[in-house]
Amino acid sequence: MPAAVLPQPSSPVSDSCLFCRIVAGEIPAQIVAQNETCVAFRDLSPQAPLHVLVVPRQHLASLGVATDPALIGEVALLAAQVAREAGYAERGFRTVVNDGADAGQTVHHLHMHVLAGRPLAWPPG
Ligand code: 5GP
Ligand code: ZN
Repeated sequence: MPAAVLPQPSSPVSDSCLFCRIVAGEIPAQIVAQNETCVAFRDLSPQAPLHVLVVPRQHLASLGVATDPALIGEVALLAAQVAREAGYAERGFRTVVNDGADAGQTVHHLHMHVLAGRPLAWPPG
């Protein structure tokens, strides 16, 4: 009997993953920055004047299954770069990673939200 094909938490690219398809250029997005490991693009439904998503090029389902500290560092540093380059170094910005159902993760490819340009309430909803 053939082994069951289970979804893998980490693989180079997934045909069915929305953000893998954005990284591959198959679905259009407003890219604001990119490097060898990550791509940053505007959120389709912005919740603040600046709302960008930073994703690793490599498919990774969530922060909870991440194992590579360098990759997570790359995501976080590009998020900070995006906020700086958009002029929010002084006013400040927020990064958010939703993981799983209770946090409201809807796209299962790790992404760091970068939000800025308005006062951001705390605690979050
Ligand atoms: P999550 O809820 O998983 O943390 O965030 C997913 C984000 O992806 C949401 O803020 C949503 O607006 C954004 N999003 C969903 N579909 C698309 C899309 O096709 N293009 C872009 N640029 N953003 C998307
Ligand atoms: Zn993906």
